[in-house]
Amino acid sequence: PGARKYTGMVEDCCCDYETVDAINEEVLNPILQDLVALPFFRYFKVKLWCDCPFWPDDGMCRLRDCSVCECPDNEFPEPFKKPYSGLSPENMKCQEGKPEATVDRTLDTKVFKGWVETDNPWTADDETDNGEMTYVNLQLNPERYTGYTGDSARRIWDSIYKENCPKYPSEDMCQEKKALYKLISGLHSSISVHIAYDYLLDESTNLWGHNLPLLHDRVLKYPERVQNLYFTYLFVLRAVTKAADYLEQAEYNTGNPEEDLKTQSLVKQLLYNHKLRSACPLPFDEAKLWQGEKGPELKQEIQKQFRNISAIMDCVGCEKCRLWGKLQVLGLGTALKILFSVDGENHLNQQFQLQRNEVIALVNLLNRLSESVKFVHEKGSSTEEIMKQQ
Ligand code: FAD
Repeated sequence: PGARKYTGMVEDCCCDYETVDAINEEVLNPILQDLVALPFFRYFKVKLWCDCPFWPDDGMCRLRDCSVCECPDNEFPEPFKKPYSGLSPENMKCQEGKPEATVDRTLDTKVFKGWVETDNPWTADDETDNGEMTYVNLQLNPERYTGYTGDSARRIWDSIYKENCPKYPSEDMCQEKKALYKLISGLHSSISVHIAYDYLLDESTNLWGHNLPLLHDRVLKYPERVQNLYFTYLFVLRAVTKAADYLEQAEYNTGNPEEDLKTQSLVKQLLYNHKLRSACPLPFDEAKLWQGEKGPELKQEIQKQFRNISAIMDCVGCEKCRLWGKLQVLGLGTALKILFSVDGENHLNQQFQLQRNEVIALVNLLNRLSESVKFVHEKGSSTEEIMKQQ
């Protein structure tokens, strides 16, 4: 590997790049990779067929891979399902491409033992509305290249940046607005990194692999996009560790005691990791935000903007992109909810509660960001060398 390009503190955070890379690769990424494969974290509840409130639908899906394969496999956790739902195993098989197949009405709020049904104030979806929700096995639907490009995709990003988190010259931007912009830009970088990580290199032979020129052109070439990726990773990591007590005591029941014990143990390893706690005890200092006189007003404004971004996810014209867009925006909304549901002492307030789906989104988002940080660190310098030689 060539010389390290990013050194010193991650801008607006409390850890340096070297530490983040070391902790991520040695400790966090391996834990997260195991965690998201377990039943509790691999099924995400999502409303995929929703009307876009802004533009008529104009799906731009080029590859078959764009659609979500719901495929609740044999392991689909029993407690997630309503007893006697009448669904035969045949009906539970993958029915990719059939819109009606992605709607699984087997939800039963009663099985959400230990988990509350509360709406997240940062998102547009009503998390308590189980009406048209379906469970998606995330392991069967990896975030990767889907061929979703062109006007539709561009319009989404343009609208997010222009209307909902504009980037003003930095001297004009308060730190709260700056943070919102960086969170979205960091997420955008992460999505681009995943496209580059798992790209269809040759359609005729169905060959998938890394697309390093794309990684360079969309992310590495712009230091700010890399910085924002690290920022978003640390922000979400801070949220996870801030909610440690809550997450430790939560119920990880999927009806499979062995797997559920593993989940509990890995969650603890993630939350109370010695290396993380000593090297980077406070990944991000949220207490610095909303301090000014206009704090409460500003918080409302930014909450509204974030809710708008969440609503725009319904307009993403590619189902798999919409799935991961919705999951990751809910994950960010959950991180915002954790960091800003505080009492006067900056502790989580007494009534603080999370939904199971919020926790699933939060951990899967952290894993995605962790994968992106790892890939950028591993390939960063060598890719830049290759691009220079060309
Ligand atoms: P885009 O990535 O569309 O970027 C548009 C413009 O935004 C750029 O020209 C630049 O000005 C600016 N920009 C780019 N990156 C950043 C950044 N990090 N920070 C700030 N500004 C930036 N495609 C897939 O193949 N698989 C997916 O899973 C997938 N998921 C998506 C999820 C969502 C929510 C959306 C909106 C799109 C998704 N797409 C996905 C499409 C993908 O993000 C791109 O839009 C598409 O590949 C076209 O890329 P582009 O080169 O035109 O630039």
